[in-house]
Amino acid sequence: MSDIVLDVSDVNKTFGGLQALSHINLKIEKGRTHAVIGPNGAGKSTLLNVCVGRLTPDTGSVMFKGTNLTGRPPHEINQLGVARVFQTPEIFLDLTLIQNVEIAALASRDGSFSFNPFKSMFAEKELTDEAEHTLEDIGLYHLKDEHTGNLSRGDKRRLELAMCLIQHPSLLLLDEPTAGMSRHDTNRTIDLLKRIKERGMTKVIIEHDMHVVFSLADWISVLAQGAIIAEGTPEEIRGNPKVQEAYLGGAHV
Ligand code: ADP
Ligand code: MG
Repeated sequence: MSDIVLDVSDVNKTFGGLQALSHINLKIEKGRTHAVIGPNGAGKSTLLNVCVGRLTPDTGSVMFKGTNLTGRPPHEINQLGVARVFQTPEIFLDLTLIQNVEIAALASRDGSFSFNPFKSMFAEKELTDEAEHTLEDIGLYHLKDEHTGNLSRGDKRRLELAMCLIQHPSLLLLDEPTAGMSRHDTNRTIDLLKRIKERGMTKVIIEHDMHVVFSLADWISVLAQGAIIAEGTPEEIRGNPKVQEAYLGGAHV
């Protein structure tokens, strides 16, 4: 039995004349926190979108635990056990925190809003208990009945993470989970992600904040201009001159 959770094989993606992803091969091992780093425009979000079904690759395939994800719609991929946090949080601003978390749980069970989520929502005490527990876990329980629109940017992103966690995914994909956060919020989020790591959840983190990457990742792939130019442990990547030159413009990591 292979312990590869996600296997991206020879994926190409172009936008018009732009080759956004070029022959991407990436294997994500079970239990790992695997970071994909690279400068702006390198293709990181495009890669994540291919993995979650928001974009279809021109060629190549994405396999998740032996199932081909290529061409499947996002909600189906989500139900197979892949959850993701996007660069811009996807939450319902008019609803409360607890309602957002409950909807995420329902979506992963029953498909994305192919039914009336509110009808069953209030009938399920169990669901509410779990949603409360998840909010407690990420430190937002005290805000559970607040409208989500009132939250700080950092709290919105942590709420989105709670919405992923309640789905108990086998694979969690995070696109710059600390983007736009203060250092304090960033550190709280790193602590939270470390705790998730202890639970053995496999994660892919797309990130350009080096502090976050080196605090969390056990393996790093470096993307530049749509191609993977290096892979290795944080120590190997830190000292790789090719990475420093291509990604950091020679700056010291
Ligand atoms: P990153 O997340 O590493 O900053 P992206 O994956 O967002 O990079 O973008 C990679 C390249 O593809 C960029 O040049 C970007 O402008 C382009 N791109 C991304 N999405 C689209 C799109 N939907 N249509 C056209 N070009 C796109
Ligand atoms: Mg991006």
